[in-house]
Amino acid sequence: SGSATVLERSAVIDLDAVRHNVRHFVAIASPANVMAVVKADAYGHGAVQVARAALDAGARWLGVAHISEALALRAAGIDAPLLAWLHTTESNFQAAVAAGVDIGISGWELDAVVAAAREQERPARIHLKVDTGLGRNGATIDQWDELVGSAMEYQDEGLLRVVGIFSHLAVADEPHRLETDEQLAAFREAIAVAEDAGVDTEVRHLANTPATLSRPDTHFDLVRVGLGLYGLSPFEGQNSAELGLRPAMTVRTLVSNCKRVPEGQGVSYGLNYRTPRPSTLGLIPLGYADGVPRVATGGPVQIGEITYPVVGRIAMDQMVIDLGGVGPAEAGLRGAEAIMFGDGTNGGPTADDWAAAAGTNNYEIVTRISPRVPRIYA
Ligand code: PLP
Repeated sequence: SGSATVLERSAVIDLDAVRHNVRHFVAIASPANVMAVVKADAYGHGAVQVARAALDAGARWLGVAHISEALALRAAGIDAPLLAWLHTTESNFQAAVAAGVDIGISGWELDAVVAAAREQERPARIHLKVDTGLGRNGATIDQWDELVGSAMEYQDEGLLRVVGIFSHLAVADEPHRLETDEQLAAFREAIAVAEDAGVDTEVRHLANTPATLSRPDTHFDLVRVGLGLYGLSPFEGQNSAELGLRPAMTVRTLVSNCKRVPEGQGVSYGLNYRTPRPSTLGLIPLGYADGVPRVATGGPVQIGEITYPVVGRIAMDQMVIDLGGVGPAEAGLRGAEAIMFGDGTNGGPTADDWAAAAGTNNYEIVTRISPRVPRIYA
């Protein structure tokens, strides 16, 4: 049945933790407001549920990458200010205008968005994006004058409203790096240029999670917080608890099989691991189709009080832990709860630990937990 599936393998999302984290950022950012960044299904946590919890806890804005993600939130009845910032020539600007979704503009989108506004007989709400150094979206400093000028002409015609000006930081997770100062100076300059051209925005926004935590001078009117909402630390060498954050996702399952094997038993494809002694192997029914990185051999799995490393290759559906040479009692672990990662209390495994095992960041670990793992909300 459905509920048995959930018991078997699930990502438990603690919305109280999300609310706690949001309140933490609201306090840090004040008087600036908080935009809850809920793209990519809220980094795997569930966009609609997280958006509601975040608004409930004091976030005023929502942010996503794609218009399609924004429309899904609107379809769920969420009417908070909502910005989508990543588009293609096939993006549905008409639906965005119709749904009152704010549209991030790097340049080329402007004419398409104005055409959509004409069609919908409703002014588009736009945020002009300037590339202050990240080298991805946004008008270059050279293109900025012209973009601002065109936007103001359309605004004067009643076809759009420039609600915001924004940019995105490249190295805020490394607070010692000087490029953040350069980006901040470029952002200030872009704002001055826009204001000289008569732009009067509601919101200027630059900061992501690490900048919100470490650089109050980047807060402006609004901070765009993603990772921190989910209770994860953006900083190498500083964990969630040290930042006052509570990780919201726990990925848990049940030990699927448990058996004694002799010394020298090969484990999983490639037989890259061989038991160094007679041992007990535990089979964990999570694999790369569930979002466990295939390269993350050595990643921790907690059973009861003890954390065991994954041995051998991680497969599509399953991975193996070596429970050690300690007698047949471990065979009794079949059916025991196994935690891949959670909030890290009492030294339990975290998304940070899996990020280290996989050579990636914690963003990728939670975001890639696949839809095959049912989300349940606590
Ligand atoms: N702003 C933009 C434009 C983003 O793309 C993202 C996510 O990468 C964020 C803010 C949130 O970043 P973080 O998760 O580090 O808070």
